[in-house]
Amino acid sequence: MSTTALQFPEVKNYIGGKFTNGVKRSMEVISPIDGSILSVVPMSTQTELDAAVAAAQAAFEAWSHTPIKERVQVFYRYKTLMEKNLKELATLVQKENGKTYDEAVAEVEKSIELTEFACSMPQLVSGQIMEVSRGVECRIDHKPLGVVACIGPFNFPHMVPHWTIPNALVLGNCMIMKPSEQVPISSNRIAEMLKEAGLPDGVFNVVNGDKEIVEAICDHPGIQAVSFVGSTKIAKVVYRRATSNLKRCLALGGAKNHLIVMPDAHPEMTATNVTASMSGCAGQRCMAASAMVAVGNIDPIIQKICDEARKVIPGKNLGAVISKAARERIEKYITEAEKAGAKVLVDGRGAKVAGHENGFYVGPTVIDFVTPDMAIAKEEVFGPVIAIIRANNLDDALKIENSSEYGNAASVFTQSGGIARQVMEKASAGMIGVNIGVPVPREPFSFGGWNDSKFGVGDLTGESSIEFWTQLKKTSIKWNPEGKTNWMS
Ligand code: NAD
Repeated sequence: MSTTALQFPEVKNYIGGKFTNGVKRSMEVISPIDGSILSVVPMSTQTELDAAVAAAQAAFEAWSHTPIKERVQVFYRYKTLMEKNLKELATLVQKENGKTYDEAVAEVEKSIELTEFACSMPQLVSGQIMEVSRGVECRIDHKPLGVVACIGPFNFPHMVPHWTIPNALVLGNCMIMKPSEQVPISSNRIAEMLKEAGLPDGVFNVVNGDKEIVEAICDHPGIQAVSFVGSTKIAKVVYRRATSNLKRCLALGGAKNHLIVMPDAHPEMTATNVTASMSGCAGQRCMAASAMVAVGNIDPIIQKICDEARKVIPGKNLGAVISKAARERIEKYITEAEKAGAKVLVDGRGAKVAGHENGFYVGPTVIDFVTPDMAIAKEEVFGPVIAIIRANNLDDALKIENSSEYGNAASVFTQSGGIARQVMEKASAGMIGVNIGVPVPREPFSFGGWNDSKFGVGDLTGESSIEFWTQLKKTSIKWNPEGKTNWMS
């Protein structure tokens, strides 16, 4: 394939500290903003994965025995580099993913926060020691697993890799990253900057590709743990395959997040939060509001949500969706719901952005009188669309929320502490918001859903990540002369 017209250099694999190419099959990376070709990405095979695993294994001995206080120094420097290059990194994210520049800046800022947390790891994993008998001590140390692999989605090309890279590496592991083939450019830049920060070659590797390479990762005997972030369908495939190969696996899947809006909700705050949650990053967030359960008569609030939604303008404060196929899927959900009797109050279908006519845009969409049996009420739409389902009371609203197969996030908008408490207790989701539309826990709290939104034990970020990325070594120690004992165990 000719690469002369590419806007970015060809994406490469990064193995043992070197950018490599030579993979036969490749795919175009398409700009969601205008449909142009940004770059090409290699579709790697077992051969490239074997090379990456070998490089990671070779680096593991020295890296895992580097004191953690030295390992974090790399990440202090890396954080400074991200801050220095914030604008460039955000522009990259914006171009390959299609989100707005401000959203891309916020994404990279989140990567910085995740790296700051990893820099605090030495304080969190100091282990335990105790004299359990006269002259006998037991100690516990967190030890790295070895070579681990991370598979990413398209919606956060910079932040989601940082859910895993800083924590897993600071804890002494070596990594193979498999970015989404739709947004692979940022990962090459991440590799460059980690090297600049002083990360030894082989500790971090990037192998690009699609299904073939994901399956090879799940099967590779040299990989100890796999983390996955993406759709529920593929999360199940990866979780089953990796664990059947006796690997540790944490697979985060899709979402259908419900916002329950009570009649006593603060109208302005609710309207702005609901709109920002459903339309931010063009609705392509696993924490996005997707269904709103309207309890009782809240028509004035719905009116305000429509007013807010009309202020969200494609190409201005609303980015593109990832692909033509995504736009068609989102618009189909709206059309089918309308045909089944739902009422489209704000219609984002057919959105066009002047100068970017070939971009993949869907305008903000508010659709009322959706019933729980409709596909738009049950399935992940992953676009700037809020489906309003009417409920008579809180119990009915909770039944609707509880019936979802997913369980990433749920929020309630109310001024009543009692009502908020009921939702906190009864919503079947891993992350709950009270008057917050996107209830992402900030570090040190961990990120992770329930039900079909996550497979595996524990969470991927925050303090919970320590359990996933390490194994405990328990050592019993006896020094005979001082202890004056020959106690055996
Ligand atoms: P996806 O499942 O299509 O792809 C994710 C990864 O899986 C990619 O790297 C891709 O190459 C790989 N993949 C795709 N098809 C495969 C197959 N058949 N076999 C093996 N591997 C395959 O997801 P996406 O479209 O890139 O991302 C959007 C999804 O990710 C949404 O469902 C969103 O909710 C979810 N997501 C979830 C979270 C969370 O924290 N739960 C966070 C971000 C995104």
